[in-house]
Amino acid sequence: MTRKLLAIEGGQPTIDYVFEKFNTIGIEEEKSVREVIKTGNLSNFLGRWDNNFFGGPKVLEFENQLKKYFKVQNAVVVNSWTSGLVTALGSVGIQPGDEVIVSTWTMSATATAILQWNAIPVFADIEDDTFCIDPVSIENNISPYTKAIIAVDIFGQSSNMDKILAIAKKYNLVVVSDAAQAPGSFYKGNPTGTLAHVGGFSLNYHKHIHTGEGGIIVTNDDFISEKLQLIRNHAESVIGSKSTTNLPNMIGNNFRLGEIECAIGIEQLKKLDSIVSRKQEIAQALTERLNELDGLITPVVRENCTHSYYVYPLKINLEKIAASRERIVDALRAEGIPGLSKGYANIHMLPMYQSKIAYGNSGFPWTSDICRREISYQRGICPTAENLHESTFFSFALCAYELYDNDIDLIYDAFKKVWGQLKFK
Ligand SMILES: *Cc1c(COP(=O)(O)O)cnc(C)c1O
Repeated sequence: MTRKLLAIEGGQPTIDYVFEKFNTIGIEEEKSVREVIKTGNLSNFLGRWDNNFFGGPKVLEFENQLKKYFKVQNAVVVNSWTSGLVTALGSVGIQPGDEVIVSTWTMSATATAILQWNAIPVFADIEDDTFCIDPVSIENNISPYTKAIIAVDIFGQSSNMDKILAIAKKYNLVVVSDAAQAPGSFYKGNPTGTLAHVGGFSLNYHKHIHTGEGGIIVTNDDFISEKLQLIRNHAESVIGSKSTTNLPNMIGNNFRLGEIECAIGIEQLKKLDSIVSRKQEIAQALTERLNELDGLITPVVRENCTHSYYVYPLKINLEKIAASRERIVDALRAEGIPGLSKGYANIHMLPMYQSKIAYGNSGFPWTSDICRREISYQRGICPTAENLHESTFFSFALCAYELYDNDIDLIYDAFKKVWGQLKFK
């Protein structure tokens, strides 16, 4: 029998068509958008203390549905989850120079939100199996100036909330959950993102459900919720007439979400459970087969938790395989598998952190008096994340495609073909 020539070496690719893009926008959304347009009222927000300070009918309806779905006291929608992260950190009273511990394995906005309040990001390493922030690294990074932890529920599963909440209690810290990628998954029976003091989700068009752009903030704390609503909508000009006496971080923004987006969001939320179930089915089908391949490490799901597979993460065991991750992923791509990425973010390695130039050019906030100790962003502070990024981690953008059984079969065939030609140690 002749070996099948790999596509990267000039052979026929396993997959010779383009996968269908994932799309959840249908006639339900179209119908509800038409209804909003007919009213002529695309946003009902008023930036002064008034009934309409909290937004229009679709904003309120969407927030009510979100409260029920996520089983929380309060839901506040905003125009992106980046805005949501800024709002969330302001709402918990972050002060200039406070240190906030954040996972380096995340989207850049998680850490930028800290800088927006002139606070100091301190990067923690991740767990080697789930890729979520490592509680041991959190504790190692605590200083007298630490105020909060941002736990990122990366790729679709929750961080280790039992341990993180215990650390927060011990050191009197606030916990914020960035569950942008994990709506519809559960941590020990609780919706991911809801166990923190404040948490939230992204509604950008890459995520499981979306409104084009948008974000959801959730909290069981009414005081925090009030601050969220103020920061969302021009706080400084409202607090006088609202008789708010607690002034810290009452710098407001226009982070309001429109009526059209909320009308879409209401329909999208109804679909979330079935979308997540389908992603889980696909992931399970992939995992069952890929587990047969020596030296390939399939996703690990935390005990008593579920994963929503925004991203399907994989690792190569270099103790078994005598080929680089680069070579393997290039070969898989050549076979026609789309949406493969080598490595993932190490936010501390971005130029802004490496050169400590954020606001202006003199090193603010790190060189200013508000920053009370030397903060290191040197390579080496997050060895697990760095090593995964540089040599063993790769992923498949599971949420980006509408995958049918035939696609899954061919993904497996492509892996099998590449694995058939690997050298093992
Ligand atoms: C998508 C994402 C964000 C940002 O959300 P936007 O709605 O795009 O602003 C933040 N954190 C993580 C982990 C994300 O995946």
